[in-house]
Amino acid sequence: MAETGKKNRQFRAEVRKVLNILTHSLYTNREIFLRELISNASDALDKLRFRANRSEQPSGGDMPLEIRITIDKDNKTFTIADTGVGMTADELAENLGTIAKSGSEEFLANLQSETAAGAAAGDAEKPDASNIVGRFGIGFYSVFMVADKVEVISTPAFGEERGAAVWSSDGLGAYSIKSAGSDAPARGTVVKAHIKDDAVEFLEKFRVESAVRNHSAFMPFPIFLDGERINPEPALWREPKFFIKKEQYEAFYKALTYDAKAPMDVLHLSVDAPVQFNALLYIPDSKQDFFGVDRDFWGIDLYARRVLIQRRNKELIPEYLAFFKGVTDTEDLPLNISRETLQENVLLRKINQVIVKQVLGHLEKMEKDNRETYLRFWRLHGKIFKLGYNDFPNRERVSALLRFNSSALDDDEALTSLAEYMSRAPAEQKTFWYVSAPNREAVCLNPHMEIFRKKGIEVLYLFEPVDEFVMEGLGKYKEWDFKPVENATDDALAAFDDRKDASQASQQASAPLSGEEQEDFDKLLAKMKEILNDKVKEVRVSRRLDDSPSVLVSPDGAMASSMEKLLKVMHKDDTLPVKVLEVNQNHPLLRGMLKIFKADPEDAMLALMTQGLFDTSLLLDGYAREPQALASRVNALLKETAALYADGRAIPR
Ligand code: ADP
Ligand code: MG
Repeated sequence: MAETGKKNRQFRAEVRKVLNILTHSLYTNREIFLRELISNASDALDKLRFRANRSEQPSGGDMPLEIRITIDKDNKTFTIADTGVGMTADELAENLGTIAKSGSEEFLANLQSETAAGAAAGDAEKPDASNIVGRFGIGFYSVFMVADKVEVISTPAFGEERGAAVWSSDGLGAYSIKSAGSDAPARGTVVKAHIKDDAVEFLEKFRVESAVRNHSAFMPFPIFLDGERINPEPALWREPKFFIKKEQYEAFYKALTYDAKAPMDVLHLSVDAPVQFNALLYIPDSKQDFFGVDRDFWGIDLYARRVLIQRRNKELIPEYLAFFKGVTDTEDLPLNISRETLQENVLLRKINQVIVKQVLGHLEKMEKDNRETYLRFWRLHGKIFKLGYNDFPNRERVSALLRFNSSALDDDEALTSLAEYMSRAPAEQKTFWYVSAPNREAVCLNPHMEIFRKKGIEVLYLFEPVDEFVMEGLGKYKEWDFKPVENATDDALAAFDDRKDASQASQQASAPLSGEEQEDFDKLLAKMKEILNDKVKEVRVSRRLDDSPSVLVSPDGAMASSMEKLLKVMHKDDTLPVKVLEVNQNHPLLRGMLKIFKADPEDAMLALMTQGLFDTSLLLDGYAREPQALASRVNALLKETAALYADGRAIPR
């Protein structure tokens, strides 16, 4: 019988194949090898600094802490040297001869247990090794993407055994170690890569320089390329705020964005909980064309321990903060994380949440402390910021920061908050009224505004199409709801008295109709409905009009007409909406029609005028259809009136 007992077995690996996968499938971009070698050099320097700070004596004590890259085109070698901790022959075998063995991870683990022991013993000193990048013990092998032979010559800085050794391999499955000759560094490590024929681009200075600037510009040690320093800027976001001057913030911003103008404001965040990250977030002093050419050109640059992971990452901030420019750096993210894992990454989502909270707090403070600055911010970026209406958890805070033009303000540029609107409203009001229009002139012509003017009720002006989505999306603010003026039913406004000075606004109004006249007027309305037929749902008397003869209104509860138009465009629907035509029975035009109707209900002029009223109401509602038909009706009316007027003039008064 076959042995059925359970027995744990170890995986075995074909080293050759694993190496092949590591060097050819892990990275999509070959220049990544530069990032990996530089971060290893930087780690080695960090470890040296760390141990020296704890008064261990390194060899070559006064050597500068730096990274030097040299390119030898003739011999096709790329060399990177550091003056860091170095490795003994044993460590070379351990760290570079064992796949997925990370000396750096071990270093940090040792530190942690030491610190824990130190803390238990009441030792307050906290070592800072937060710059160390390495974790996985695989980054080094990326060099075999571009090299067919690599030598690592290393001289350890500490310990008993300080002799230099050379590790060398072709990356295919075997390596050798021997003692080094006279080319060994006085301290630290030299990685010498023999560049493959298909990777000679990495023997070009400009190519290497641009790749290093791209990924490793902010490493904490100087990097030289053929003797020239190529990373002059410090990683400003990791410096203590207290020491940073305004000019430094500005210079960094300009280098980051190529914006010639200094930023309007900057937020410098150093956060430890619930996630560790540093961030520099700038508010530019110019408008962003977010709805145009810059549509996809937003996001925050993501760094892990000063190494660039991704430019313009869009997981770090929500869309409505897209006007922010800047960088975020976290210690909690591994270097070799893929783009796929960056999406929907929990860590990034947490950072995003903290950034949103901090930004809202910052804007709230700006609003409170410096009104003018806040309004300037709003004029520059309000258009994007208002998209925050769909940030559910923060909706109340976003709402408080919104600004609008309104009927209570005297020019286009003035702005009000919702809170200010509320403070001006009469006690019984619980609705924010708004009207959509391209500008203030258009608002003045909107017949729906007449009753609001008469009653002195403030109306918010929405000048941009997105505003209506904002209002719909917000739903409520502090228990108040948002409604378009078109939806003001008679009852909704009945509770509000007319303004004392309102009577003069309705100068044109005629005396009220008598009971009998009222009956005739109702018949006229029925006639008008018959004329317009199914173009309108109903023709009725309006209580909202003062100066205008008529207005189209949505049947109760329907959406605002600008929203309706937007949806029609989206659905490529070019039919006209069927609405209610409301007429002002005190308007001279309607009184004239009443006279004509009483004389002859079938008078052709009635049809012409009814059509005319409907046409102008449609125009005011924003619909301009069938211009030819409209023009011919207007001309017919003009013909009639011209004859009448000429006759009228002929009769002496
Ligand atoms: P990681 O950096 O994730 O640890 P690597 O494959 O890049 O993995 O490197 C493996 C290990 O080799 C490092 O952890 C470190 O101990 C050692 N090492 C690599 N490069 C150097 C260097 N320039 N100086 C000293 N040690 C190094
Ligand atoms: Mg590494």
